[in-house]
Amino acid sequence: MDGGKRVWVPHPTDGFKLGRIVDIGSDTISIEPFDAPGTTINSLYDRTFPAEEYDNKECDDNCALMYLNEATLLHNIKIRYMKNMIYTFTANILIAINPYYEVPDLYSSNTIKKYQGKSLGTLPPHVYAIADKAFRDMKVTKLSQSVIVSGESGAGKTESTKHILKYLTESWGTHAGPIEQRILESNPLLEAFGNAKTVRNNNSSRFGKFVEIHFDKKNSVCGGFISHYLLEKSRICTQAKEERNYHIFYRLCAGAPDDIRQKLKLAPPDQFLYLKRGNTQYFCGKKTQKNLSDARKSQQYLKLGSLNDPVLDDVNDFGVCDAAMKHLGFGDQERLGIYSLVAAILHLGNVAFDDNSDDAKGGCSVSKSAEESLTMASSLLGVDKEELRDSLISRVMQATRGGMKGTAIKVPLKCTEAANARDALAKAVYSRMFDYIVDMVNKAIPFGDSANYIGVLDIAGFEYFQVNSFEQFCINYCNEKLQQFFNDRILKEEQALYEKEGLNVKKIEWTDNQDCIELIEGKSSGIFDLLDEESKLPTPKYDHFTGEVHSRNKNHFRLSVPRKSKLKSHRDVRDTEGFLIRHFAGAVCYHTDSKNPLIVKLFQGAESTAGKLNFISVGSKFRKQLGMLMEKLRSTGTNFIRCIKPNTKMVDHLFEGSNILSQLQCAGMVSVLDLMQQGYPSRTQFSELYNMYKKYLPPELSRLDPRLFCKSLFKALGLDDKDFKFGLTKVFFRPGKFAEFDQIMKSD
Ligand code: ATP
Ligand code: MG
Repeated sequence: MDGGKRVWVPHPTDGFKLGRIVDIGSDTISIEPFDAPGTTINSLYDRTFPAEEYDNKECDDNCALMYLNEATLLHNIKIRYMKNMIYTFTANILIAINPYYEVPDLYSSNTIKKYQGKSLGTLPPHVYAIADKAFRDMKVTKLSQSVIVSGESGAGKTESTKHILKYLTESWGTHAGPIEQRILESNPLLEAFGNAKTVRNNNSSRFGKFVEIHFDKKNSVCGGFISHYLLEKSRICTQAKEERNYHIFYRLCAGAPDDIRQKLKLAPPDQFLYLKRGNTQYFCGKKTQKNLSDARKSQQYLKLGSLNDPVLDDVNDFGVCDAAMKHLGFGDQERLGIYSLVAAILHLGNVAFDDNSDDAKGGCSVSKSAEESLTMASSLLGVDKEELRDSLISRVMQATRGGMKGTAIKVPLKCTEAANARDALAKAVYSRMFDYIVDMVNKAIPFGDSANYIGVLDIAGFEYFQVNSFEQFCINYCNEKLQQFFNDRILKEEQALYEKEGLNVKKIEWTDNQDCIELIEGKSSGIFDLLDEESKLPTPKYDHFTGEVHSRNKNHFRLSVPRKSKLKSHRDVRDTEGFLIRHFAGAVCYHTDSKNPLIVKLFQGAESTAGKLNFISVGSKFRKQLGMLMEKLRSTGTNFIRCIKPNTKMVDHLFEGSNILSQLQCAGMVSVLDLMQQGYPSRTQFSELYNMYKKYLPPELSRLDPRLFCKSLFKALGLDDKDFKFGLTKVFFRPGKFAEFDQIMKSD
């Protein structure tokens, strides 16, 4: 770090700022930023990074940078993004920034053709390059492949997934054959039922999926299979402010033909309680005054009332979803059956209860004004109205006497308990309907002749909110597993490359997150096992469970009791009502108090089956599913796409540096760089090096073949052979050494 040198120093909003070193102290370095001459910023040594020589230099692959660090990584991505180059490689990992607008020609059929059969790195980085690599690897190695797409909400995972599916089906399908079309049509269908508008994304997937495209022996598309994970159920009954329920509810209300509308007694969404918890009239996307006022004037708005969202076209989208269902083999009756269930849930949501305060027996009854909703709900669900009423306002308990089962008795429920039973029923119906739809899709895309598949995983990234519940716990557990897998694979592949090139590099170590995974899934004292144990107790309690988690994992590095201050903002709670886990991507505080879905969710299965405790907890189900998924991923060749959300405003050409930096850190990209730092991150083909430097050398040297040329050159320069290695096709440099080499060459 010499005086005058150009460096990057941390900056609260930009991520890093570029400046020149003006003073070097014992602990810190002072720099003068280029955009604020005369001022200085102090920065710690290990947070100060050398900058590239030219500000506008950008590379397709971050590994080709002279200096490889988080600041140059961020800067490289930024210049490219501003020039509409949304994709960048870091070795084989693709970083994709959501452009929030249609980049011209980026996904045209011409572009698809261009990428077919081309090795990674020969064309500009693209999601198609990854899809093609997966296909070629499958063809050559006869091994199934997977593409793991990750990133936070709104980063573009689902869009990337769709582009991969389109690339694969368009390139190796039988050209618009029925199976390919059905695979593609499964997207609008599943999005209608599994996506919703949230504050982070107008079309947020509230479930994870692994889509397999199967290929026959001749490597043509022959079918598909979709597995789905963790559909968010809380949304069916309540939504956060400015968020919506699943699209299908609004679409059905807006777009159903009149006969269906009458049959299902549909009304504008603001007449259904389950649809108006998010409550406000909102507008996302570009809020120009004209857009807003045009939208407010539209027929659709007038018809649908205040809950209609002007950026979403529910009428049109209903048609798209209905057509997709038709193409996937859902007949008129089946579609009507599904719409009836959707409407049944809406009517069920309007069933309100009144306390029977004057009645000696206590309990509650269905409000007079809600009788019609109960009638509609029961008739659409195909159950007897009185039976439904009974099951909502009372619970059946089996009395036991001396270990023997006695007679069943009916226990009346309080208003809030009845409302819980109603919500549990709505969630159970919806989630089973979702399972059924996925099953139907899978039946429509059978893969009988499969030899291999390419699977694409589109699942929520690491999450933490103000209040984190069981849903976040499961997602973050999944991300821990995927992160471990990522480390494993990237390291392995990096080391395999060294081996293939004959480099003889010693094994690289990295920080393992196995201890965190162990804390969650370990035998007996792991959180999942403790949860299961708790559920088997006669009266499971959240505070007992939380206490067990802490006492059985004393002094575990990854676990803490949350500091009171952290919980206080939420509500005044005792220390034991939650736990803090130090995940690889940051510490997250999970609440386990009664209002929290953790235990409520665990036991809701029991609630809905009125007394029978024969349910599988959401936790063990997900754990099992994830186990199967990891098994699949392990048995395939893997490719990674890291999606990045450029800004929280959801607009184009706005690069919020500091937010992006933390996403790169969460995605493990910074660790990958650290890892590369220990290895030989910069690499160049002999031929490329030859072309770069031949003009600096006497002609007799430039007549040599590229490999010999490079060897002679390095020898002549007296370079230390610890700093580079010669592979079979490339020369590999230790971090920063390529830069030094470049300087020597240019100064000579
Ligand atoms: P979630 O986790 O909430 O499901 P996600 O990562 O799946 O989020 P997407 O739904 O794929 O995010 O993307 C959000 C929005 O960003 C899209 O609806 C689209 O408007 C825009 N978008 C994403 N990728 C692209 C792209 N490649 N080109 C143009 N727009 C895009
Ligand atoms: Mg998505």
